[in-house]
Amino acid sequence: MTGPHRARLRAVVFDLDDTLLDHQGAVRDALREWAPRWGRQQDLAALVADWFGLERSYYPRFQAGELTVHQQRRARVRAFLPHVDLRDDAAVDDAFDGYWQAYERSWRLLPDAADAVTAVRVRGLDVAVLTNGRASDQRRKVVATGLDVPQERVFPSSELPAAKPHVAAFRSVQDALGADADELLMVGDNASVDVAGAIAAGWYALLVDRARPDTDSGSAYSVITSLAEMDRVLDRHMQSPQGPSICAAAVTQAPQ
Ligand SMILES: [Mg+2]
Repeated sequence: MTGPHRARLRAVVFDLDDTLLDHQGAVRDALREWAPRWGRQQDLAALVADWFGLERSYYPRFQAGELTVHQQRRARVRAFLPHVDLRDDAAVDDAFDGYWQAYERSWRLLPDAADAVTAVRVRGLDVAVLTNGRASDQRRKVVATGLDVPQERVFPSSELPAAKPHVAAFRSVQDALGADADELLMVGDNASVDVAGAIAAGWYALLVDRARPDTDSGSAYSVITSLAEMDRVLDRHMQSPQGPSICAAAVTQAPQ
């Protein structure tokens, strides 16, 4: 007979944008400042919807290696400002720089982020960040926001063999942390990128969905509505006599 099950988590790996860092808020603030300078005077909600639509169209093509980081930025800005003559690459790069500077000035952590990282550390668990994006940008976000994660524990996809949700991204981080798959918990805001990828790699996964009214979701994976709930979830997970409580290999349906 063995004693009650004790899950052996070794590390919690957080996604960065919209999990720890308020990316959407920073984009909104940047567009409020930048877009009117280029003649886009619509209400902010329309600007934000347009900008994120273009991001969804072009950013995955950068991550797939079809476009360079500059090519996808130019394509987005030209589509966002069709009334401006931005045929010249230098002109469109200049326009994007203005956006980026405003975006950078707006970087901040989500209100529950710093405490969640501290709570994981207090348990003696390692903390890492696995983020899709260009290393120089993502690493600067960590520094600029004062996030308590050392650079050797920050894993941007541009330094990995693949971006999330590809299993290779998760395997690289797992190797770097010297952990087994079932010792790692991924926490992210994107079900198809963070959660599905982690589960495919055999990790535990937790979706943070701040827009969800409650945690009684009926999902195939565990969901929290704030990082403030992590402590409770980790308690339950690490002490449950029935075995790990955070859903992993037992999922029966693919996340949407
Ligand atoms: Mg995210």
